[in-house]
Amino acid sequence: MKNPHSMAGKAQGYFHRVMAKHLHKRLVSSAEQPPIVSFTFDDIHTSAAGAGASILAQCGVKGTFYVAMSCLAGEEGNKGLFEIDDVRRLIGDGHEIGCHTWGHIRACGTSVDNYLKDIAKNAERFSDVFPGYRLANFSYPFGDVTTALKVQLAPLFRSLRGIRPGINGPRADLNLLLSNNLYNSCMDMERVSQLIAEAQRLGGWLLFCTHDVMADPSRFGCTPDFLKAAVELTVESGCRVMTVDKALNELGVP
Ligand SMILES: [Zn+2]
Repeated sequence: MKNPHSMAGKAQGYFHRVMAKHLHKRLVSSAEQPPIVSFTFDDIHTSAAGAGASILAQCGVKGTFYVAMSCLAGEEGNKGLFEIDDVRRLIGDGHEIGCHTWGHIRACGTSVDNYLKDIAKNAERFSDVFPGYRLANFSYPFGDVTTALKVQLAPLFRSLRGIRPGINGPRADLNLLLSNNLYNSCMDMERVSQLIAEAQRLGGWLLFCTHDVMADPSRFGCTPDFLKAAVELTVESGCRVMTVDKALNELGVP
């Protein structure tokens, strides 16, 4: 296993992602459907569960929040990005909680076996607090994916989301859903508008992903104003906005 931060490790990671894009697909058609848009949030930051969720509520829509339990305040490693009450409130308000890995590890930095153990640990920690809640959908930390992981994770989750941009349609690969980074650092409203128009043209499913939602966001996050503008634009476009899990129901995924 190469160090994922070394030149050789990065090349290996790139190779795996390119291969994974083409292999072991689980295709579903979205062409028969009016366009759907899902807003997703990775890791769960208190600001996403607070300002982010409140913007979704103002617009009358729900989002999907992929939890990495090592980011919970007080958890070993203690990244302290969120409190358990943040998640409790999200669930109570009808948002979906999805699964990340526990330690936010890279696919190319560890063995498939360790990766699977880390997911199991995440699910176990989550279920200690929220017994009976099914983390039905998964997102790959860093969008880092290998074909071997697609094979292993496909039977475990209804969908697996990456961070490669684009529209999921007219056929979507449920083992590697495309998602567009809603970061102030790399996205603007003109591009959001283009993506919505593209989803409408294709009859596709458009996913957005972000992290923190703050006045001074990280380069992986956005400001509340930016998120609000994107959600409002989407709602005004007539696209249906729903969680990943609900979107899968619409697409007839078992
Ligand atoms: Zn993440």
